[in-house]
Amino acid sequence: MAKIEITRRLFQLFFLGGSVALLVRGLMGLTSRTVEYYCPMGGIVSIYGLFRKQQFICALNETNLSIALVLLVGVVITKKSFCGWVCPLGTIFDWFVWLRRKTLGKDFLRIPDLPDAVLSKLKYVVLAVILILTFRASELIFRGYDPFYILFTGGKGHGLIPVVSLIILIGVLAATFMFEMAWCRYLCPLSAVMSPLSRLGLLKVKRDPARCTSCGLCDSACYQRIPVSKLAKVTRTDCTACLDCVARCPEDRALDIGV
Ligand code: SF4
Ligand code: SF4
Repeated sequence: MAKIEITRRLFQLFFLGGSVALLVRGLMGLTSRTVEYYCPMGGIVSIYGLFRKQQFICALNETNLSIALVLLVGVVITKKSFCGWVCPLGTIFDWFVWLRRKTLGKDFLRIPDLPDAVLSKLKYVVLAVILILTFRASELIFRGYDPFYILFTGGKGHGLIPVVSLIILIGVLAATFMFEMAWCRYLCPLSAVMSPLSRLGLLKVKRDPARCTSCGLCDSACYQRIPVSKLAKVTRTDCTACLDCVARCPEDRALDIGV
């Protein structure tokens, strides 16, 4: 495994471990603080309420807002690296892809490019619905339907509908196992927030055509279906800066990171 890949895995394990620790401590009654306290999406949905009423919605606070602002600045510099290096759900879904490719093969239930492109717009609809309804209700009414929240709180408290929450969680996990990165690509509202900004992303993967042998290993390494071997620079908004393409490239510096 290349150094960059090991480093990313360690980052992912750190943030996933932190989320699991919060889950376990919460279930044991050792803390009332949940992953929600650190969720950047909470900061995003707070912004409008702060302007309108100068107050945070529900349990959200300055930490959520600060993390959201750091995230947005991070996207401008390193694209959607949050997805590839930090998000605990992204880590679990990475493992799903690894497992499904080992067991079912890369092309199992692969959605063709056109429907894939259409489905990838769905996340903007999800984001719009969440923002509008949250602003109108001044409450986190989607909390009970958020797979991240349900998974890392054990579906505890906050007036959730446990059965519906559980069905949603199982549905998202199953769909994302069957269709590669389905949650991240098609439904995640935070991904919808980051995607437009990600086009500005300063640091990106660059390919040197003089060194590249067009072996295509980078294309198959990319869980986001980006045809790296055909691009000079990866400016695509779905790039999570995971750098798996760079790690898998057999040619010295055919792929690199640059501005
Ligand atoms: S893995 Fe490297 S050599 Fe192969 S196509 Fe991609 S950039 Fe070119
Ligand atoms: S293009 Fe490379 S860095 Fe971007 S998501 Fe695909 S594998 Fe990761």
